[in-house]
Amino acid sequence: MNAQPHTLVTPLLTLTDISIAYGDHLAVSHAQMQLADGEIGCLLGPSGCGKSTLLRAIAGFEPLQSGQLSMGGRILATNQQMLPPEKRNIGMVFQDVALFPHLNIADNIAFGLQKLSRKERTARITELLKLVGLPGVEQRFPHSLSGGQQQRIALARALAPRPQLLLLDEPFSGLDAKLRESLVPEVRSILKTLGISALMVSHDQHEAFAIADKIGVMNDGQVLQWASAEEVYNQPSTHFVAEFIGHGDFIHGTVHCPNCVDSALGRLRSEIPHGFNAGEQVEVLVRLQNVQYDAGSPYSAQIQQRTFRGANILYSLLLSNGDKLACLTDPSVDIPVGAAMPIRPELQNLVAFPASH
Ligand code: ADP
Ligand code: MG
Repeated sequence: MNAQPHTLVTPLLTLTDISIAYGDHLAVSHAQMQLADGEIGCLLGPSGCGKSTLLRAIAGFEPLQSGQLSMGGRILATNQQMLPPEKRNIGMVFQDVALFPHLNIADNIAFGLQKLSRKERTARITELLKLVGLPGVEQRFPHSLSGGQQQRIALARALAPRPQLLLLDEPFSGLDAKLRESLVPEVRSILKTLGISALMVSHDQHEAFAIADKIGVMNDGQVLQWASAEEVYNQPSTHFVAEFIGHGDFIHGTVHCPNCVDSALGRLRSEIPHGFNAGEQVEVLVRLQNVQYDAGSPYSAQIQQRTFRGANILYSLLLSNGDKLACLTDPSVDIPVGAAMPIRPELQNLVAFPASH
């Protein structure tokens, strides 16, 4: 019998050690990731970290300085060769919709469908407009549609030639928050209905979590972690990822044993070893849900700020050693600023990094 394990997912897009430079400036540095067939990925990171550059390289608009890009077993680019964008079978949606203003919606969508017969084209357009929730707008012009509707048309246009991969560069950032909230899950559902693989760029964590199966957290040209939303949140690979994803504070501590760290909140224990040696100085990630108000706790922190939020109260606290952290309580727990608040840490697994300062 063949003892080889079965691969559960077929990789579609593979980035191997990719670097991209603009002159002397390395915009993307040694990026590695793999998008599975049918998966939606999202590159997430602060402005200027290299997200668009990486996306443009995948589309075929930026040469690689080193590394290899392949899709479906076909090499798209190395530092020696570059398949032109139109040969890659990749669709793209940008932040600025850029529909052709002088063409009606049907002609806008038909733009990449020259090879189809007239009948097939009309059928494809009807099907796509239905899919993006705008049936019957064939004869209208872009200016008569709202921003959100135009972005749906841009999506339909990119999907029309049935690309193997869809790239989306901050497709929602020009839209207002309310519209974004409804459109993001809708776009996810459209992509999932079609089973299309997609890679999006965003600087908004909530947007990334709402749409993607895999998140690629980027900073300073590097893809620091490529994993599910749960993984990047619960097991961040670096201090930056821990800080960038979700609200989190760090408290200083000294490693006491493979499963424990001594801190201003006492001995913090983990179910699994944290990988540090006794005596090492570390910073332990403390999320909002890891700090509980507990009147019986021997540990307390001084209240620096108190914000009533309706359903709860958010307290900003200062520990005796100068570490800061936040605590969310029931509105009935009402303690004035300046007073000591008794708190209990509640951490299952310690996420710790070497202390930086
Ligand atoms: P992001 O999309 O994450 O905001 P970009 O990929 O656009 O970041 O940019 C990454 C870095 O490369 C930035 O420092 C940016 O200034 C630089 N950069 C982007 N495009 C160019 C270009 N065409 N020429 C030179 N530098 C560029
Ligand atoms: Mg960008």
